[in-house]
Amino acid sequence: MNIDDLSLADILDRCRECQHCGAPTHFVGGDPKGRPTIDVVVEGKRRKLFVRRVVYQLRYPARTLPDGRQRVVTSSCENHRCVNPELIHVATRSEAWVRAGAKGQWTDPVARLKTVRAVRAKSKLPDHGVDDIRNSTETIAVLASRWGVSPTYVSMVRKGRYRRPLASPFAGLGA
Ligand SMILES: [Zn+2]
Repeated sequence: MNIDDLSLADILDRCRECQHCGAPTHFVGGDPKGRPTIDVVVEGKRRKLFVRRVVYQLRYPARTLPDGRQRVVTSSCENHRCVNPELIHVATRSEAWVRAGAKGQWTDPVARLKTVRAVRAKSKLPDHGVDDIRNSTETIAVLASRWGVSPTYVSMVRKGRYRRPLASPFAGLGA
């Protein structure tokens, strides 16, 4: 695909739900151990670009991309495959390293739950819409048009791949 035709929606189409931030922004494809990359045509040449840099550019078209050496595009989501546009930001390389090393922020279940709730609150599909999709026997097309989301999204919600019910962080602790 040509870089000029690439939109955020094209990238989100290739994502599943992120296990850390809860947004449907875990990029699938490429080397699962490496940073997510995407093959695009830039000025007639096929190139492999870092998806987070592409997302940053699409999310903030007026800002210039950092050089990638001193200043890098990073994410406050701990999942290295996550390309959540709302969590992507620029940091100095040393800040990015410190953040990556600062475990605990995202492994803390209470903090994680709070983030997932905040991300879901911004979704155009409210929680009662999720319940409707899961409980209804209507077709995917009917539900997609009722809630203004894509048929793929409806089917992922039905399968429980997106918008999984949130477990209490205190479950299993006797609370
Ligand atoms: Zn994430």
